[in-house]
Amino acid sequence: MIPAGQSLIGFSTGAPGGAVFRAFDPARAADLEPVFHSVSVVELERAVQLAATAAPAWAKLTGAARNRFLRLIADKLDRHAAVLAEKAVQETGLPLARCTGEVARTSGQLRLYGEAAERGDWLDARIETAQPDRKPLPKPDHRSMLRPLGPVVVFGSSNFPFAYSVAGGDTASAFAAGCPVIVKAHPAHPGTGELVGRLVVEAVKECGLPEGSFALLFDAGFEVGQALVRHPLVKAVGFTGSLKGGRALVDLAAARPEPIPVYAEMGSINPFFILPGALAERAAALVDGLHASATVGVGQFCTNPGLIVLQRSAAAEKFVKDLAAKLTATPEAAMLTPGIRKAFVGNTAARTQQPGVTVIAQGKTAMACGAAPVWFETEARTFLGNPGLSSEIFGPSSLVVWCRDRAELLDVARQLEGSLTATLHAGASEAAEQGELIDLLSAKAGRLILNGYPTGLEVSQAIVHAGPYPATSDGGRSTSVGTRALVRWTRLICYQGFPDALLPPELQNANPLGALRMVNGQFTRAAV
Ligand code: NAP
Repeated sequence: MIPAGQSLIGFSTGAPGGAVFRAFDPARAADLEPVFHSVSVVELERAVQLAATAAPAWAKLTGAARNRFLRLIADKLDRHAAVLAEKAVQETGLPLARCTGEVARTSGQLRLYGEAAERGDWLDARIETAQPDRKPLPKPDHRSMLRPLGPVVVFGSSNFPFAYSVAGGDTASAFAAGCPVIVKAHPAHPGTGELVGRLVVEAVKECGLPEGSFALLFDAGFEVGQALVRHPLVKAVGFTGSLKGGRALVDLAAARPEPIPVYAEMGSINPFFILPGALAERAAALVDGLHASATVGVGQFCTNPGLIVLQRSAAAEKFVKDLAAKLTATPEAAMLTPGIRKAFVGNTAARTQQPGVTVIAQGKTAMACGAAPVWFETEARTFLGNPGLSSEIFGPSSLVVWCRDRAELLDVARQLEGSLTATLHAGASEAAEQGELIDLLSAKAGRLILNGYPTGLEVSQAIVHAGPYPATSDGGRSTSVGTRALVRWTRLICYQGFPDALLPPELQNANPLGALRMVNGQFTRAAV
């Protein structure tokens, strides 16, 4: 399997032409073959028209058929895991074990979402049966559920070449929800994207699905992505990346004659509070755990703990000193792209210049695209007076905030912006007394973690990967990870007074799919 550098549109490939770009090997600082061609305006139009044509068939596809399709993609990813991982290592500089593990995570995710699609419980089917004799007015029969939106555009992320890219979370959840998908390939790993995309196209063909079920479009700049978001036949957008990029797409979608939802996951500082009792009980384990969480993947995770909040004490000072020594000794590794590395160097240099901010750990770097930890500390009153210190630095950099007392620690929590996660480490006797802090943090984050670490996200039925703005664009009302992610690609529809034969199976009296439904106020799998 070798990438050819062309977009995948239906069952054909895009013609060479247009602006070109190459993948880049950040570990060796070298361009990679082949040349990737930006998709032309005509081909982009064809991809969207095909997706729009496929959308009605997709809306009627049974959950079982969607599950079969997602499982087939998963099986293909697993079968080709070695070659896919090898390509991703070349294009991202990530270690082989991480890339191989991510393929498995991606196939697991596809299977999980496929099972959810087949079970149908997530569709929130509700039935209120008619009461023709009700006085003073008869009550009509109402049946409602979630229905797919239509063509979805997915912008994959740079930091997950599989799990949040071409066949990653947004694509899998959109397929599971019954929507055709057009992926705007991320230029950080285009070859990996193309190889995965070809497997998706194979699965489309083998399942006998319409040609417009899937497309993968390359672009050397922003034009294709922006044209997709503006296109009147596109009905929703999924995005993982920077606040700047996500916000640009949200604004673009809102300015359309028909505004559409953009589910943008834009990262966050993921505050990490360490209380005195936790340090007394397990300071050494916390040094190791926090170091691992903050440096894994060269800190290039949206859940990276970027703000460490402590009350000053001798024990806390020793903890930070030990952690800083371990960070300083951490070897450098290649960042995902020269652009991400440039931003990291620029942002850490700018933070060094901030009044009242001191560098506490600085690892050594020699590689062209390498980065090592750069950590800072400041006093809570400086943090509270400087909003710039709340912004995320993507990469292995965090800010330690020293609080004089508990009141100051609560002030820091009060001032936080929206985050994907908030972590609290407390001692055994402290945890029960953290009501006020937990209430403050629950208003700021989509996932609260007690005595754990924010990285190493488990994809599950119950996980929430979301948070108030700027962590996500929809205020944390939905999640981009876990089976709840499917609902983002749907809208509600209610059928009033419909005979059984005209209803979707999920709402028919016999409940042929056995889905969990609310019937006259009671959850049941029974027939009506
Ligand atoms: P990015 O710059 O936001 O790009 C993500 C995707 O969106 C790319 O396909 C990009 O296209 C496209 N895009 C960006 N701005 C756009 C615009 N104004 N109009 C149309 N398309 C646009 O993110 P990145 O390249 O992955 O990394 C850059 C920064 O993003 C990082 O330094 C980090 O701060 C952040 N990031 C956050 C997360 C997260 O977990 N939320 C993950 C990865 C990165 P092109 O690349 O072709 O321009």
